[in-house]
Amino acid sequence: MLPGLFDCRDCPRLVQYRESVKPLPRFAGETYWRRPVPPWGEPGGVMIVGLAPAAHGGNRTGRMFTGDRSAEFLFKALHAAGLSNNPFSVSRNDGTRLRCAYLTSAVKCAPPNNRPLPSEVRNCLRWLRIEVDEVRPKSIVVLGRLAAQAISSVMGIRIEFKHGSYVDAGNVRVFISYHPSPRNTNTGRLSMEELIDILRKAGRWAGC
Ligand code: SF4
Repeated sequence: MLPGLFDCRDCPRLVQYRESVKPLPRFAGETYWRRPVPPWGEPGGVMIVGLAPAAHGGNRTGRMFTGDRSAEFLFKALHAAGLSNNPFSVSRNDGTRLRCAYLTSAVKCAPPNNRPLPSEVRNCLRWLRIEVDEVRPKSIVVLGRLAAQAISSVMGIRIEFKHGSYVDAGNVRVFISYHPSPRNTNTGRLSMEELIDILRKAGRWAGC
């Protein structure tokens, strides 16, 4: 999947950031990944699209939604919805497996302050386009506005961002959710129950 991704240097600002971000003291001694972070999971089911790897999450561990607080929240929900064997995702060899689910991001390199530039999002759409073609998801969950815009561009559909709603693109149903970042989960904007409910609906639609 995605041959050539690891060599991609199309966004000079993101390449500079991913390769130079200073490790947090609690991760001192770990070797950071510092490359585009690949998607993972099973094709043909639910595709879950986040924003981008976190500087000390995916950019450290080399796996999307792995090793940060968004991952902690998301994997509790994925496990409750039957889409993951474990309620955690902490490293590439933690034994966690996705079931009928595939995790990816709109942007594959960690951006400063989790904010990619519009040009960087546009550059990275080429990878997401290949993924949608090859993974052939039956349902998609977009986590946050930027993921919704990316899927909207790739699939040529209009998505009005309304948390908890969905849009149909032919046979593919696109479910819309806030991103499970601490900013949303700590403030109660996104509850665990809501995210589990959205993931369960996406799983049911995909026949998982
Ligand atoms: Fe390449 Fe995407 Fe990384 Fe930009 S963000 S360098 S397009 S992989």
